[in-house]
Amino acid sequence: MAKKPATSFTVDKKEAARRVGKIMPILQKCYPGASVALRFGNPLELLIATILSAQCTDKRVNMITPALFAKYKSAQDWAKAKLETIENDIRSAGFYHNKAVSIQEACRTIIEKFAGRVPDTMDELVTLPGVGRKTANCVLANAFGQPAIMCDTHVIRLSRRLQLSENSDPVKLEFDLAEIIPKKDWTIFSHTVILHGRNTCQARKPDCPNCAISRYCPSANNPALW
Ligand code: SF4
Repeated sequence: MAKKPATSFTVDKKEAARRVGKIMPILQKCYPGASVALRFGNPLELLIATILSAQCTDKRVNMITPALFAKYKSAQDWAKAKLETIENDIRSAGFYHNKAVSIQEACRTIIEKFAGRVPDTMDELVTLPGVGRKTANCVLANAFGQPAIMCDTHVIRLSRRLQLSENSDPVKLEFDLAEIIPKKDWTIFSHTVILHGRNTCQARKPDCPNCAISRYCPSANNPALW
C-alpha cells in the first residue's frame, strides 16, 4: 500500500507554545506520575534497556532485563562476554545481532573513554556506538534527571496531530519542540504524550470524542489530518 502523503501545514510557533501551555496541565492531570516504563536500577541498565527497546515493546524488554541485569552487572561484564552469548541472551528483543553489537561496543567505549561510567551529557552519550539522540535523551531524563525531549513514535505522531511541528524527523522535531515547550517541562511533556499516544491518540484510530485535549487539537475528528 502506498504511503499516505504527509499533510502539510504551517506552525505558528507562538500559537503552538500557547497550545502547549493549555495542554500540559490537562495531560499531567490525566497521567499523574507519568514516567519511563522501562525498569532499571542505574544509568547503565537504562542505557541497555533503551537500546533493547528499539522496535520492541517496553513490556517485552522488562520481561528479559531482570535476568540480564543479574548476569551482566557492569560495563566490563558486557564488554568481555562472547558476542554470541549476548545475542542468545537478548534474542527475544528482536534485531539481536545489531543490538548485541551496539551494547558491547557502547560498553567498551564506556570503559575506554569514561572510566566505566555512563556519561551524563548529550555530547558524550552520542559518541557511544549505537546511541543516538533519542536513546541519549531517555538516559539523560530518566537516569540523570535532566530535562530532555524523547521523540519516540508517539511523540512524533502527536506533535504533528497537535500541529506543534511540521517535522517528522525526530531530531528536527526535538529542536522544534524545545523552542515551544518550557525546558522544565521537556521530560513530563514526553512522558505524558507517550501515554496519551498509547491510550487515546493511537496511530490508526485516535479516540477524539474521548480525548481530554481535543479542544486544543487542530486534528480533532478530522481523519484527513491523522
Ligand atoms: S483530538 Fe484526536 S487527534 Fe487530537 S490528540 Fe486527541 S485523539 Fe489525537
